[in-house]
Amino acid sequence: MFLDKLPADEIVPFTFKVQYRRPVMVRTLSLRTCAVKVMDEMDDTERAAEFTGDALEMEPAFATAAPVKQAPSKKSASLLREQVLEIHHYTDKLFSFRTTRTQSFRFQSGQFAMIGLEVAGRPLLRAYSICSAYYDEWLEFFSIKVPEGPLTSRLQHIKPGDEILINPKPTGTLLLGNLRAGKRLFLLATGTGFAPFASLLRDPDIYEAFDAVYIVYGCRLAAELEYATGVTIDVREHELLGELAADKLHYYASVTREPYHHQGRITDLIENGRLFADLGVPGLDAQNDRVMICGNPDMTAQLRAMLGARDFLEGSSTVPGDFVVEKAFADR
Ligand SMILES: Cc1cc2nc3c(=O)[nH]c(=O)nc-3n(C[C@H](O)[C@H](O)[C@H](O)COP(=O)(O)OP(=O)(O)OC[C@H]3O[C@@H](n4cnc5c(N)ncnc54)[C@H](O)[C@@H]3O)c2cc1C
Repeated sequence: MFLDKLPADEIVPFTFKVQYRRPVMVRTLSLRTCAVKVMDEMDDTERAAEFTGDALEMEPAFATAAPVKQAPSKKSASLLREQVLEIHHYTDKLFSFRTTRTQSFRFQSGQFAMIGLEVAGRPLLRAYSICSAYYDEWLEFFSIKVPEGPLTSRLQHIKPGDEILINPKPTGTLLLGNLRAGKRLFLLATGTGFAPFASLLRDPDIYEAFDAVYIVYGCRLAAELEYATGVTIDVREHELLGELAADKLHYYASVTREPYHHQGRITDLIENGRLFADLGVPGLDAQNDRVMICGNPDMTAQLRAMLGARDFLEGSSTVPGDFVVEKAFADR
């Protein structure tokens, strides 16, 4: 029913999944082609193989910026070319940046996309969670700097005006729709695993869906918390979101490698009950609590096991559950 309102170049000859969202601040149509639907329906292993392999080097013929006019096949999907707007460096290991956003690029809070740079005439792409809100006019990313990393050894040197390649088919499991209704939402992250939660914290829907939202964030050093702390403050002070989040959003940051007012690994803080004692709330309970996890592979594996032992069921796009998991990066 919305097809007559779409630009001609966004109409593809396959079934559209059209979602109409009713956020507090803006109204937006979220268009997802059948190609995205196929990605969503892959299981974890298939998606991991799709997104966590070595540098994705596409054939130069596929690397043009021409808008998608035909149903995109996996290999022939055109890449968007966005301009870097601003960059912030937090430590020698972490930075964030914003780019322009092509209007037709749609995503859901919590999703990731393949992004990268053109290197020697070929796209070098990696999975990146999108930090900006689905309604923002820009795209924001929070990145690691891996000294010998094929992408980030280059990406950390970007300047305003540089070009970032973005695959216009975001995906991911950290979606509100993959969780059953609950009362408290715990967002558990380490390092750049905070990235998808930046987008979710900026989504008014989570404050409508839950009575309380706890962001529990672990880093090695206090300076590494700066990006997450800044996002949380921005949300609380936002003229519209702030009102919704004021009494619901709770931020708990813990550091592992130097003195800080909360110390220790998230897994230990949950296991020994310290997290809940510090927050002054009851421990996890599968009846009322929902959990999203994004962080290093060891932490995600341990938390998955810990939640399983507490009768939490893992959710997916086909069967919503009590918790969902995304690795913030793949071990190689
Ligand atoms: C679903 C998903 C979402 C991701 N989202 C982000 C994101 O929002 N921000 C981000 O910086 N990275 C993210 N990554 C990791 C990202 O895809 C790249 O691995 C990272 O940008 C490094 O790329 P590279 O080519 O420089 O090095 P790679 O060859 O990709 O990685 C080299 C090594 O660096 C380590 N490493 C990679 N990424 C990280 C990281 N984020 N934190 C700590 N160690 C890491 C790993 O040990 C890896 O073996 C995500 C990965 C996945 C699977």
